[in-house]
Amino acid sequence: MSFQTKNPITGEVLPGSFAKSSAEEVSRACESCAAAAATLRRKSGKELASLLETIGASLTEARDAIVERVQAETGYPDGRVQGEFGRMVGGFAAFAEVARDGSWVEATIDHADPDREPLPKPDLRKMLIPIGPVGIFGASNFPLALSAGGSDVTSALAAGCPVVVKGHSSHAGTCELIGMAIQEGVAKAGFPEGTYQLVQGEGHEVGEAIVTHPDVAAVGFTGSLCGGRALFDLAAQREVPIPLYAEMGSVNPQFVLPELVEANGEGFAESFFGSITLGNGQFCTCPGMLFLPPGSDALLEKLASLVADSTGQPVLNEGICSAFESGMSRLESLEGVQVLAKGTLEGAVIGAPAMVVQVSYADYVAQRDVLSEEVFGPSAVVVVCDEVAQFTEAARNFEGQLGASLHGTESELAGAKNLLDELERFTGRVVVNAFPTGLEVCHSLVHGGPYPATTNSHFTSVGQSGITRWARAMSYQGVPDALLPPTLQEANPLGVARRVDGVFTL
Ligand code: NAP
Repeated sequence: MSFQTKNPITGEVLPGSFAKSSAEEVSRACESCAAAAATLRRKSGKELASLLETIGASLTEARDAIVERVQAETGYPDGRVQGEFGRMVGGFAAFAEVARDGSWVEATIDHADPDREPLPKPDLRKMLIPIGPVGIFGASNFPLALSAGGSDVTSALAAGCPVVVKGHSSHAGTCELIGMAIQEGVAKAGFPEGTYQLVQGEGHEVGEAIVTHPDVAAVGFTGSLCGGRALFDLAAQREVPIPLYAEMGSVNPQFVLPELVEANGEGFAESFFGSITLGNGQFCTCPGMLFLPPGSDALLEKLASLVADSTGQPVLNEGICSAFESGMSRLESLEGVQVLAKGTLEGAVIGAPAMVVQVSYADYVAQRDVLSEEVFGPSAVVVVCDEVAQFTEAARNFEGQLGASLHGTESELAGAKNLLDELERFTGRVVVNAFPTGLEVCHSLVHGGPYPATTNSHFTSVGQSGITRWARAMSYQGVPDALLPPTLQEANPLGVARRVDGVFTL
């Protein structure tokens, strides 16, 4: 069985058809990864860094073809695609550095003390080691940075884990080109073929076959809550359960304090409008809920006029388009919910116009669950509160989110510690006077958060520290120096930062 992809601007079916991988093909891909795992786990950080850099160079060579295909499959403008291409290739360079540096393995040494009373102390050494083959599912909205060559792939390879990727059916052509370039890089770097495997398919069978394959040791998923949760349950039900790290949807609530509304309500409306319509709202960090204090009329008026004057853009696929339409109709049908403004749609067959609805705090509280559900696309729910104390109450009742922002003047922020504490309770990232969109990819980024934003709030899926998802902890007790991994040998031949007898050493 084969399938094709569509251009969301024109609705045209694009050239190229993609065979759905059979159960046998998925199984062969996973077995090939398992065979490669034995080689990869013995590679040094330097060798893994060189693999990542060689792949980065192969992707750069294929840049024009990849960029052209992404634009056709997503309808994204050139600037967005070029920027995301840079982020994808930059990810290979960043994780090459992480692999070369080696300190991510958290090497820890506790020396023996044979004279200790009442019992001698043994020599114990600990580090993180690669977990084994990793299954990866990318999201539709980041066809480069979070897909077949995205941050789950780079972090897993940097950790020494081979990967089997399920290509996203709405950008299968992009996945195929990326997959070919990566396999070329793998071969050039002299790594086994099973280092990177790509399987394709619409529907659930291919993905389910990856998650349930006995050789797969962990899974990374970016996408919807229903998809992530279904695959998480599947991973937990296996005879040998495995971790499944899913990053899922989020409404990322924004709280605006009154002095800021008074001082610059209209300016805030402009930047909020910019954030909900950036990429036509197709970001998991899109600020989908806005909490305002009383006296926000000028802000609301400005926001309404910006939304009403806007012309919508394409969305990635028909599924997202119909989910947006039904999500907005669901919101409109709720008690006390009014449409603040709706834009128009022009120039795209598969698209969505911006839309903002407004509700009072009392009506929000009465229908909290449904109003807090993500409607993926250029939309927002504005909750107009009767007093600022309701911000803290609203925050106390939120389910897990990737991010939340607090906006205010310097003086009012100084008195907002309680509210900030509440935001910390349910998010992975608290942002002040900015929107959560436009991730700064770095070591200290947390792109995660409590469930349902993710299935494991201890980790991040984006940023260098995401590498630890693909490892397990291992202790070596009384093992002779020559038999230890070089990272843990007494002379520290790799020069890795380690904790020795409780003291962090460089
Ligand atoms: P999706 O529909 O969940 O699909 C993601 C991938 O998983 C696709 O390959 C899909 O297969 C597969 N899949 C989904 N459900 C499955 C199941 N039950 N069994 C097996 N495979 C399954 O996600 P999407 O297409 O990217 O939709 C957008 C959503 O992703 C939004 O809700 C957005 O907020 C979220 N998102 C989250 C993040 C984040 O970092 N948290 C980033 C981007 C997007 P097919 O190819 O056959 O569809």
